[in-house]
Amino acid sequence: MTNWAEATGTTCPYRRTGHTPEPGSWRLEALTDREREVLLLLGTGVGNRELSRELGIAERTVKAHISNIVAKLGQQTRTQVAIVSALAHNALCDEPSCSQHLALASSRGQKTTAA
Ligand SMILES: [Zn+2]
Repeated sequence: MTNWAEATGTTCPYRRTGHTPEPGSWRLEALTDREREVLLLLGTGVGNRELSRELGIAERTVKAHISNIVAKLGQQTRTQVAIVSALAHNALCDEPSCSQHLALASSRGQKTTAA
């Protein structure tokens, strides 16, 4: 086995950098309700203009929210934060009927069953 496999505890070669973005490793509880909302929307791939229209706030306010989120989650860019959003959707979204929760649950179930 190679060093990255031992260091990261995974055999996935694309995690050789040591970055293992697992849900639960971000301080999501540090976010305000509004920041959570912005983060969830960021995870859908929308740009600042669309975000500002969706939330009914100025684009500079959107940018301020995003830079707060980037700082609070210990990331460097909005793109990294959007990845966090996609991975942590389950933890962030409190909509019980959210189809993404159901999709995640069923794909996890299948994986567990297969293994
Ligand atoms: Zn959801």
